[in-house]
Amino acid sequence: MKIRNPRTGELDYQIQPMDAQDVAAAAARLRTNQPAWAAMPIAERSAIMLRWADAIEKHAGAIIEQLTIDTGRAGISAMEVGGVPGTIRRWAAQAPDIIANHSPMDVPSSNPTIVNSTRLVPFPLFGAIAPWNFPMTLSTIDAIPALFAGCAALIKPSEITPRFVEPLKASIAEVPELAKILEIIVGDAATGQALVANVDYVCFTGSVATGRKVAVAAAEAFIPANLELGGKDPMLILASADPVEAAKTALRASILATGQACQSIERLYIARPIYDKFLETLVAEAEKVRLNYPDINQGEIGPFIFAPQGQKIAEQLAEAESKGARILTGGTVEILGGGTYLRPTVLADVTPDMAVVRDESFGPVLPVIPFDDVGNAIAQANDSIYGLSAAVLAGTAEEAEKVGARLEAGAISINDGSMTAMVWDAENSSFKMSGMGPSRMGESGITRFFRKQAFMRQTAEPARIQDFSEDKFAALRKGA
Ligand code: NAD
Repeated sequence: MKIRNPRTGELDYQIQPMDAQDVAAAAARLRTNQPAWAAMPIAERSAIMLRWADAIEKHAGAIIEQLTIDTGRAGISAMEVGGVPGTIRRWAAQAPDIIANHSPMDVPSSNPTIVNSTRLVPFPLFGAIAPWNFPMTLSTIDAIPALFAGCAALIKPSEITPRFVEPLKASIAEVPELAKILEIIVGDAATGQALVANVDYVCFTGSVATGRKVAVAAAEAFIPANLELGGKDPMLILASADPVEAAKTALRASILATGQACQSIERLYIARPIYDKFLETLVAEAEKVRLNYPDINQGEIGPFIFAPQGQKIAEQLAEAESKGARILTGGTVEILGGGTYLRPTVLADVTPDMAVVRDESFGPVLPVIPFDDVGNAIAQANDSIYGLSAAVLAGTAEEAEKVGARLEAGAISINDGSMTAMVWDAENSSFKMSGMGPSRMGESGITRFFRKQAFMRQTAEPARIQDFSEDKFAALRKGA
């Protein structure tokens, strides 16, 4: 399979997608080794994981180099690779206490002769299927806590961005105990399907359309599917907010990583009194943003990683214009040096029926919608199949939070935007079609990978069949 370079458009890399047989063989290897991994005390598993963090740092140069080619951006690639050892160390610090607090745990019994306790039993084989927008972060974000829990892990990154896999595998090979219970496989949809058929728990990050297929396949296989899907995140900017600061915050939250982030702000609802000032500043600030072309070490936004995304957005913009929207800046998908780029694109006079307001764009596109009544703005923000995250800007946090509580989304940034990219501690559910299953953040990030096994200890004589005989019940009823 030939892989396209997002900066040059050339097919300069190739992979051999793993077929179903290879995936089954990998799963079998991991299953054989998993019981010993799960039986280790958490301190021992942590020590091994911490050695992996060091090994990633040792190989960081090579991983960053390949991830930079995969994604067409340098700085964010370095941040992604730098973040993974930090995630491992954070779980190393937190996992022992979380596990100790949950297992074994005395549970009060309603029967005085029975003593209850529960212990946590990890799912044997965990599987991750990841998208192309943050290839390193999203391939490892769920696998790391799953490994701490005692699962073995099989990871399938996106076939659009597979180059970083080889140097990442080199870091795993440095920790032989880890190599026995963690494998990364390359491949496309068929490889992903085979993964779902072979694991005991699947975490999928990607589009709603594929998420639905994964959920159906997981239901057939009787395994939990934990889905983190798309969004169309709204930002509400109330009249008490500073329009100049708000415009700068909205711009960053919308276009960082070329808007190719699930938590990007994709709809802006602005209180009418500050609309003009906001819009004027937003356009001026958007025009200062530079492409990282031709020099990857300059500018703020890179090419589309997946070129068809540019075409999809061009269609959304054309439809919006045909229905009366005005593009105030940006708006033209450019091919530069073989890469596909779009400068920050601000639209006014958009209406709720336009695709640019309804469908995920996954690019640097900012439709701006004024409102007179905050209740109406909330209703418009909630009029979406998505419910991933949202943001509210206001003069005070209290005012913003009151509005935030009325939004149908799992993570609400207050006086900032897209904060789920930076904050890992607070559990948040994906509402509506943005996902399914427990949060990857906070304690549930690890507890979701355990099943609960209850021990019910009988301290008295066990009951006999005669205790349930009809004669006895009949006598009791007569007596009553
Ligand atoms: P995608 O759904 O096209 O692909 C994701 C992964 O699924 C890839 O690895 C692909 O090979 C695999 N796949 C495809 N068909 C499959 C099948 N039938 N069975 C199993 N696996 C299959 O997503 P994408 O285009 O790579 O990523 C962009 C999407 O991801 C956007 O919608 C974005 O919002 C979403 N996303 C969500 C989050 C989140 O945390 N909620 C984070 C990042 C991206």
